[in-house]
Amino acid sequence: MEYKADYLIIGAGIIGLAIAREFRNRFPGAEIIVIDKEPDVAYHSSGRNSGVLHAGFYYSADSLKAKFTRDGNRAMKEYCREKNLKLNECQKVECRNSKIKSKCKMQKAKCKM
Ligand SMILES: Cc1cc2nc3c(=O)[nH]c(=O)nc-3n(C[C@H](O)[C@H](O)[C@H](O)COP(=O)(O)OP(=O)(O)OC[C@H]3O[C@@H](n4cnc5c(N)ncnc54)[C@H](O)[C@@H]3O)c2cc1C
Repeated sequence: MEYKADYLIIGAGIIGLAIAREFRNRFPGAEIIVIDKEPDVAYHSSGRNSGVLHAGFYYSADSLKAKFTRDGNRAMKEYCREKNLKLNECQKVECRNSKIKSKCKMQKAKCKM
Protein backbone atom coordinates (compact mmCIF):
# COMPACT_ATOMS: atom_id res chain seq x y z
CA MET A 1 0.00 0.00 0.00
CA GLU A 2 1.29 3.47 -0.85
CA TYR A 3 0.70 6.56 1.28
CA LYS A 4 1.53 10.16 0.51
CA ALA A 5 1.77 12.89 3.09
CA ASP A 6 3.22 16.34 3.65
CA TYR A 7 4.65 15.32 7.00
CA LEU A 8 5.63 11.91 8.26
CA ILE A 9 6.23 11.60 11.98
CA ILE A 10 7.88 8.44 13.25
CA GLY A 11 6.99 7.57 16.84
CA ALA A 12 3.59 7.94 18.48
CA GLY A 13 4.79 8.83 21.96
CA ILE A 14 3.94 12.18 23.52
CA ILE A 15 6.60 13.98 21.47
CA GLY A 16 5.46 12.61 18.10
CA LEU A 17 1.80 13.18 18.90
CA ALA A 18 2.41 16.70 20.24
CA ILE A 19 4.34 17.54 17.07
CA ALA A 20 1.50 16.14 14.94
CA ARG A 21 -1.03 18.23 16.87
CA GLU A 22 1.07 21.37 16.50
CA PHE A 23 1.52 20.76 12.74
CA ARG A 24 -2.22 20.25 12.35
CA ASN A 25 -2.84 23.61 14.06
CA ARG A 26 -0.17 25.44 12.07
CA PHE A 27 -0.86 23.84 8.68
CA PRO A 28 -4.57 22.96 8.67
CA GLY A 29 -4.66 21.59 5.11
CA ALA A 30 -1.55 19.43 5.41
CA GLU A 31 -1.62 15.65 5.33
CA ILE A 32 0.12 14.36 8.42
CA ILE A 33 0.90 10.72 9.10
CA VAL A 34 2.18 9.36 12.40
CA ILE A 35 3.59 5.84 12.33
CA ASP A 36 4.80 3.60 15.10
CA LYS A 37 6.29 0.13 15.28
CA GLU A 38 3.78 -0.74 18.02
CA PRO A 39 0.07 -1.53 17.54
CA ASP A 40 -1.08 1.57 19.48
CA VAL A 41 0.09 4.97 20.69
CA ALA A 42 2.08 5.63 23.89
CA TYR A 43 3.28 2.06 24.22
CA HIS A 44 6.61 3.02 25.77
CA SER A 45 7.72 5.83 28.16
CA SER A 46 4.75 8.07 27.34
CA GLY A 47 2.25 5.48 28.50
CA ARG A 48 4.26 4.11 31.40
CA ASN A 49 5.68 7.07 33.26
CA SER A 50 4.96 8.44 36.73
CA GLY A 51 2.46 10.99 35.45
CA VAL A 52 4.10 13.93 37.16
CA LEU A 53 4.01 17.43 35.68
CA HIS A 54 7.46 18.62 36.68
CA ALA A 55 7.86 22.10 38.11
CA GLY A 56 11.40 22.61 36.85
CA PHE A 57 12.98 23.71 40.11
CA TYR A 58 15.82 21.22 39.86
CA TYR A 59 17.30 23.28 37.03
CA SER A 60 19.05 26.65 37.27
CA ALA A 61 16.29 29.25 37.33
CA ASP A 62 17.38 31.04 34.16
CA SER A 63 18.16 27.93 32.07
CA LEU A 64 16.18 26.90 29.00
CA LYS A 65 15.35 23.60 30.71
CA ALA A 66 13.69 25.45 33.60
CA LYS A 67 11.83 27.76 31.19
CA PHE A 68 10.58 24.90 29.00
CA THR A 69 9.52 22.90 32.05
CA ARG A 70 7.54 25.84 33.47
CA ASP A 71 5.98 26.65 30.08
CA GLY A 72 5.23 22.98 29.42
CA ASN A 73 3.70 22.58 32.87
CA ARG A 74 1.33 25.51 32.21
CA ALA A 75 0.49 24.32 28.69
CA MET A 76 -0.23 20.77 29.86
CA LYS A 77 -2.49 22.01 32.68
CA GLU A 78 -4.35 24.21 30.23
CA TYR A 79 -4.75 21.26 27.85
CA CYS A 80 -6.07 18.99 30.61
CA ARG A 81 -8.62 21.60 31.72
CA GLU A 82 -9.72 22.24 28.14
CA LYS A 83 -10.26 18.51 27.55
CA ASN A 84 -11.71 17.84 31.00
CA LEU A 85 -8.91 15.46 31.84
CA LYS A 86 -8.36 14.57 35.45
CA LEU A 87 -5.54 16.56 37.02
CA ASN A 88 -4.36 16.22 40.61
CA GLU A 89 -3.11 19.69 41.42
CA CYS A 90 -1.33 18.78 44.61
CA GLN A 91 1.89 20.49 45.50
CA LYS A 92 5.30 19.02 45.89
CA VAL A 93 7.18 19.08 49.15
CA GLU A 94 10.92 19.02 48.67
CA CYS A 95 12.98 17.95 51.67
CA ARG A 96 16.68 18.66 52.02
CA ASN A 97 16.94 17.61 55.65
CA SER A 98 16.66 13.94 56.55
CA LYS A 99 15.14 14.77 59.97
CA ILE A 100 12.01 16.28 58.45
CA LYS A 101 11.74 13.72 55.66
CA SER A 102 9.06 11.58 57.32
CA LYS A 103 6.88 14.67 57.91
CA CYS A 104 7.18 15.63 54.26
CA LYS A 105 6.31 12.14 53.11
CA MET A 106 3.10 12.34 55.11
CA GLN A 107 2.16 15.60 53.44
CA LYS A 108 2.84 14.09 50.05
CA ALA A 109 0.65 11.10 50.84
CA LYS A 110 -2.25 13.44 51.63
CA CYS A 111 -2.08 14.78 48.09
CA LYS A 112 -2.75 11.40 46.52
CA MET A 113 -6.16 10.93 44.92
C1 LIG B 1 9.85 5.15 34.45
C2 LIG B 1 9.68 6.53 33.86
C3 LIG B 1 8.98 7.50 34.56
C4 LIG B 1 8.84 8.79 34.03
N1 LIG B 1 8.11 9.71 34.72
C5 LIG B 1 7.88 10.93 34.17
C6 LIG B 1 7.03 11.88 34.81
O1 LIG B 1 6.50 11.64 35.87
N2 LIG B 1 6.86 13.08 34.22
C7 LIG B 1 7.44 13.40 33.01
O2 LIG B 1 7.24 14.51 32.51
N3 LIG B 1 8.23 12.51 32.37
C8 LIG B 1 8.45 11.29 32.90
N4 LIG B 1 9.23 10.39 32.25
C9 LIG B 1 9.82 10.77 30.98
C10 LIG B 1 8.78 10.75 29.87
O3 LIG B 1 7.89 9.63 30.00
C11 LIG B 1 9.48 10.72 28.53
O4 LIG B 1 10.39 11.81 28.46
C12 LIG B 1 8.52 10.84 27.37
O5 LIG B 1 7.46 9.90 27.47
C13 LIG B 1 9.28 10.65 26.07
O6 LIG B 1 8.35 10.71 25.04
P1 LIG B 1 8.77 10.29 23.58
O7 LIG B 1 7.57 10.53 22.71
O8 LIG B 1 10.03 10.99 23.22
O9 LIG B 1 9.18 8.76 23.68
P2 LIG B 1 8.27 7.42 23.72
O10 LIG B 1 7.06 7.58 24.55
O11 LIG B 1 9.23 6.34 24.05
O12 LIG B 1 7.80 7.29 22.22
C14 LIG B 1 8.67 6.91 21.18
C15 LIG B 1 7.85 6.11 20.21
O13 LIG B 1 8.65 5.81 19.07
C16 LIG B 1 8.37 4.49 18.64
N5 LIG B 1 9.51 4.02 17.87
C17 LIG B 1 10.78 3.85 18.28
N6 LIG B 1 11.54 3.41 17.28
C18 LIG B 1 10.72 3.31 16.20
C19 LIG B 1 10.93 2.90 14.85
N7 LIG B 1 12.15 2.51 14.41
N8 LIG B 1 9.87 2.91 14.00
C20 LIG B 1 8.64 3.31 14.43
N9 LIG B 1 8.40 3.71 15.70
C21 LIG B 1 9.42 3.71 16.56
C22 LIG B 1 8.14 3.71 19.93
O14 LIG B 1 7.38 2.55 19.71
C23 LIG B 1 7.39 4.76 20.79
O15 LIG B 1 5.98 4.64 20.67
C24 LIG B 1 9.40 9.10 32.76
C25 LIG B 1 10.09 8.11 32.05
C26 LIG B 1 10.22 6.84 32.58
C27 LIG B 1 10.95 5.78 31.78
